[in-house]
Parts: sequence; C-alpha cells; structure tokens
Amino acid sequence: MHKDIRKFGSLILVAGLLGWLIEKPLLAMLIASVGIIIWQLYQLQRLTVWIGNRNNVLPDTNGQFYRLYRIISQRSKKNRERKRQLTNYLKQFRKAASALPIAIVLVDDHGKIKWANNNAETLFGIRWPSDSGVVFTDLVRDIEVDKLLTKEDGEAELNSRLNADITLSVQVVRYTNDIRMVIGRDISRLIKTNQIQSNFVANVSHELKTPLTVLKGYLEILQNNPNITPELQRPLQQMNTQTERMAVIVHDLLYLAKLENKEDQTTHKAVDITHTINTIVETIDERLSEKQLKLELDIDYSLKILGCDTELHAAFSNLIFNAVNYTPRQGVINVSWQADKNGARFTVKDNGEGIPESHIPRLTERFYRVDNDRSREKGGTGLGLAIVKHVLQRHNASLKINSQLGVGSEFQCLFPAKQVLGQGLLDIAN
Ligand code: ADP
Repeated sequence: MHKDIRKFGSLILVAGLLGWLIEKPLLAMLIASVGIIIWQLYQLQRLTVWIGNRNNVLPDTNGQFYRLYRIISQRSKKNRERKRQLTNYLKQFRKAASALPIAIVLVDDHGKIKWANNNAETLFGIRWPSDSGVVFTDLVRDIEVDKLLTKEDGEAELNSRLNADITLSVQVVRYTNDIRMVIGRDISRLIKTNQIQSNFVANVSHELKTPLTVLKGYLEILQNNPNITPELQRPLQQMNTQTERMAVIVHDLLYLAKLENKEDQTTHKAVDITHTINTIVETIDERLSEKQLKLELDIDYSLKILGCDTELHAAFSNLIFNAVNYTPRQGVINVSWQADKNGARFTVKDNGEGIPESHIPRLTERFYRVDNDRSREKGGTGLGLAIVKHVLQRHNASLKINSQLGVGSEFQCLFPAKQVLGQGLLDIAN
C-alpha cells in the first residue's frame, strides 16, 4: 500500500516539475492525478471481470492489485476444495444410506418428500427422485403414519401396502430444524420368530397338561394309601407340591400364550370391578387371617371398565396375591379403585419387604424374580406380573410400580378415560 502511495505521489511530483517548466505545474499535477484515477478504475474493472470469469490464472499486474488478486485466488481455491469435500461426503452418505437395509425418507414440515433411499421404494413404494416434493402420506396411506407425522416423533407398526405379508415398524425422528426422518424396517421375520417361540411354549405347555394331571392323580392315590410307610410320606408330599407348582406354571404359560394370540383387543363389555375385587378378596380371606394381615379397601362402586372380566380378574388377583405373599405377618394391604382426571386407577399398596430399585424395570419379564428362592417358597411362578402387563396392554392401560426396600410396594394400573364408565369420572370431569 505504502509503495503504491509513494509511486503515485512521485508521479504527481514529476508531473508538477515538468509542468513547472512550461509554467503550468498545477495543471500538470491535475492531469497526472486524473490519469492515476483512470488507471485504478481500469484495474478495478479487470478485477471484476476476472472474479466473474472465475479464471484462476493471475493477470499480469503488480502492486496492491497483485496482492488483491492473490488473496482472492487463494480463498476461492480453498472454497472450491471445501465444496468438493462436502459434495464427496454427501455422495458417500447417500450411498451408505441407500445401501442400508432400512427405508429412509426425509420429509419437511409440510410432509413433503425431500429425499429417499433405495429401500424406500421396496418398503413404502416411494421412488426417488420422481416422488420428490410429493406429500409422504399421499403415498403411504395409513392412519398410524398420519398420526406419527403430526407428532414430534414416535413409532408405529403397520402392514405394508405393497405386500400384506410384510409388517413394517415406522419411526419418525427429527433430523434438522425443518426436516424429519421417517425410518421404515421390515419386522415380519421378528414377528414370525416371536410367533414360533410363543407357539412352541404354548404347545409344550399344552402337552405337559395331561401327564401332570395323571401324575397328580396317582400321587394322591399313593398318599391316601394306608400301606405307604411313614418314611415315604414326606417324599410323596414333596412330589405332590412340585407337581402342583408345575401345573400352575403350565396354566400361567398357557394363559400368557392365549393373551398374546388373541387378535382383538378386549371384549367391550362393562366390567363391574367392585364385584371382581370382592371375588378376589373372598379367596384370600383365609390367608389374611393366617398372616394377621389388615386389608383396607377404598372403592368407587360406580366405576366400571370396558373390557374383559376374566382378564381383569387374572391381573388384579395376581397383584393382590403378590401383596399377600410378600407382606410379612401383621402387615397392611390397601386396595383402591378410584377415578382421577386422566381415567381410573386400580392400586394395590403394601407395607411389605419392598423391591430394590434396580429390579423394578425388569419385573414384568417372564420368570423374572427378585429372589428366586423366596418366590418359589411362596409358590410364585415368576409369570404373574407378565400376565398383568399383557392384560393391561389389551385394555390400553399401563402399569406403574413404586417400591422401596423395607418400606413397601405400590402397583398402579392406570386406565385411560376412554376405557372407563362411571359416575365418579363424570363428577371429576365436571
Ligand atoms: P411371582 O410368581 O414370583 O410372584 P410375579 O411376576 O408376580 O412372580 O412377580 C415377580 C417378582 O416381583 C416376584 O418374584 C417378587 O420378587 C416381586 N414382587 C411382586 N410383587 C411384590 C410385592 N408386592 N412386594 C415385593 N415384591 C414383589
């Protein structure tokens, strides 16, 4: 910069000196200045043309303009390199996404398709790029997917429109501020494997039923036989207890399989829960007085549930039996059936031994027990809470477990308002 100033300054000075010779120094200096300005304007014009042409060859120039050309040239080289890299990354990402065994579709906030991978055609029937800009739900017509896209994110299962044998799991996740990613996976094989596994368990359980009944019958005959020596009485008693335990496990496994295989949700019949609770309480009366347990009932008699009475009986009795089993002598059990603003709540609370927090998330898994020996000793199968979970799912309800070791446990069955009938609910709504 300084060099240029010096150069132009000297030029004007020389012009002044020459002008002095003809006695017009100011005019000469003015002409020189105008010349310099015209020269600079010409250089600017060249620079503009050069930038527009994106010509990478530096023009023949020097001084300040030469430095300007170099800086611009270096920056544009760097930018081109970065752009090339980004294009490469994008190509690689699209290639990888296309090769994935899942369908990926990017949609904007109006549900319009922005991009789709190859598998989107196989699973959703969406072709890229010909379906670009088409509304996703116009191509994948499904109420569940419609609902999913109106929410922020979530997951749903649906039958493929292209092939009725294919079940899809569809998940929607936010990708960027205005783009969401719809991910589709073919879960038909998983469903089939689960089905085979559950059928296998059901078949084995079914096959075991008859031999167990025969065994139990003969054991009873043997136990009642007066010729059996006293030393054989205890082993026979133990055989009988274990056979009974096996029969209960087989019964529970068959019941679980039945719940899983029932296609429909539940029979839509108004179930009188008060009656259900009373029937269960009658069956535990003896155990309550044996263990000197106090049972408190807090029931809204008007509340009914739309559902299946035998299933609800199975679920609620499992919870109440557990409270009886896992509460020590002279403990207190509270059973409540009440409505709240969200629906209705069946709660069984005890001041028993409680459950360590780490076990709570796994309690509804089949055969999951906090303490195997203790459960067996109390006649438990480890299937009770799995049955509760299944029954509740079939009634659009959920199970909430609160427990503290040494303080007690609380099992809540939460039924949504649409499943509940009753005056209590109306009172709350008003
Ligand atoms: P089980 O037949 O063994 O009782 P469940 O599925 O009904 O099987 O329960 C699973 C486990 O949860 C039980 O083994 C027990 O450890 C624990 N559990 C269930 N209910 C209670 C309760 N009210 N108090 C303490 N522990 C409980």
